[in-house]
Amino acid sequence: MRDHIVEKVKSAGVVGAGGAGFPTHVKVNADVETVLVNGASCEPLLMSDPYLLEDETELVVRGLEAVVECTGAKSGIICLKGKHSKAMEAVAQAIAKDKTGKIKMFELKDFYPAGDEQVLVREVLGKTVPEAGIPLQVGVVVSNVESLLNIALALEDKPVTDRYVTVTGEVRKPMIVKVPVGTSADVVIGYAGGPLISDYRVVDGGPMMGRVLENLNVPVTKTTSGLIVLPPEHNVVARKIMEPAKVRRITNMTCCQCSQCTDLCPRNLLGHALHPHKLMRAFDFTQSGVESKKEALLCSECGICEKFACPMMISPREVNAQIKKELAADGIRWDSTGEKPINHPFREDRYIPTKRLMQRLDVIKYDTHPVFEGEVSPDRVVISLNQHIGAPSFAVVSVGDTVNKGDLIGEIPENALGARIHASIDGQVESIENGSVTIGNL
Ligand code: SF4
Ligand code: SF4
Repeated sequence: MRDHIVEKVKSAGVVGAGGAGFPTHVKVNADVETVLVNGASCEPLLMSDPYLLEDETELVVRGLEAVVECTGAKSGIICLKGKHSKAMEAVAQAIAKDKTGKIKMFELKDFYPAGDEQVLVREVLGKTVPEAGIPLQVGVVVSNVESLLNIALALEDKPVTDRYVTVTGEVRKPMIVKVPVGTSADVVIGYAGGPLISDYRVVDGGPMMGRVLENLNVPVTKTTSGLIVLPPEHNVVARKIMEPAKVRRITNMTCCQCSQCTDLCPRNLLGHALHPHKLMRAFDFTQSGVESKKEALLCSECGICEKFACPMMISPREVNAQIKKELAADGIRWDSTGEKPINHPFREDRYIPTKRLMQRLDVIKYDTHPVFEGEVSPDRVVISLNQHIGAPSFAVVSVGDTVNKGDLIGEIPENALGARIHASIDGQVESIENGSVTIGNL
């Protein structure tokens, strides 16, 4: 049965919908004790997961049952916050119908980052994932809600062609929408009534970990969870668009070594050897030694240090991201000590309540609980062949080909880690360039 499920998931091009797009057929091809469903929806403003848990409950549970069966897990636990009471109700009803007795629910506290998979594993199971490790090392697979929905559809031979996206911020009608992969951001924002302000930037993802889009033509991918329209000077946007050199200059000049970034760092609280204030000490990161910088490899880039902890408006997150790039370029990895991390005694008291975080981010006014408003129908989609972890897919269509929604357009290179790509609308292939396939309506 495992081979059957893995093959169907692979064939449908399912990837982790909540992160960087790790190919799901690889993730579920493992023996684990527990499958956790990450329904924390811990990034402020993003609401598609609670929506799916409430309105597509059966499909999500069916996907979970398949992963439990595939991995041989003893249980599959849907983790969500009590404030999403309708979703909890729907999940409770679906669990009551589950014949396997393996599907359960866990109510999470409302803090950030409850959805960091290492924090989630600790909260639900009391297990701590090793430094630079993955949940598999403690017998757990963590799956995103939309990934499970896509797994259920994959078992019906329906490939991944759409993405549920929260559109919010300065738009006329904040909403959750179903969007064909490859639809440009401006079409999605237009569907939500368009922007309310003339000068704005768009955050792809949540306010904490999302990135600011370079332009509005950027297409939605399998991992796009939200599009947030904000003024350029907004708290959330300003530091995301700061030049890397400026980040270094500010860090070098203004860090007062108060260590609040370390005190509130979720990975430090789990007992991992990450001390962002120490990383800030080096006056010039390019000159300091490798050993003093390696801790940056343990950073999840959750943004708490940048957006909540630091009184000097410094971004340890960005500094860590820059160091990680440097180390990756040199092929340097974290050397595990093999020691079991010891959680900080104040761990639970130091997680950040979501409401306080939203106040600090100045996004409370955008917390409008949007509802599902249907499906976007673009005339043209630009589908990246590289929207997952691993090797880019290669095109298996040619310019001029007619394709139907769901047709295979990108295949995984032989023996490589990757994900298949499918047409998200009916139409004709207009171009294949810059690693993307453009399909236009006929
Ligand atoms: S972004 Fe900051 S708070 Fe989050 S894990 Fe990295 S150093 Fe810690
Ligand atoms: S919180 Fe800010 S000022 Fe304090 S040690 Fe960290 S980076 Fe420096």
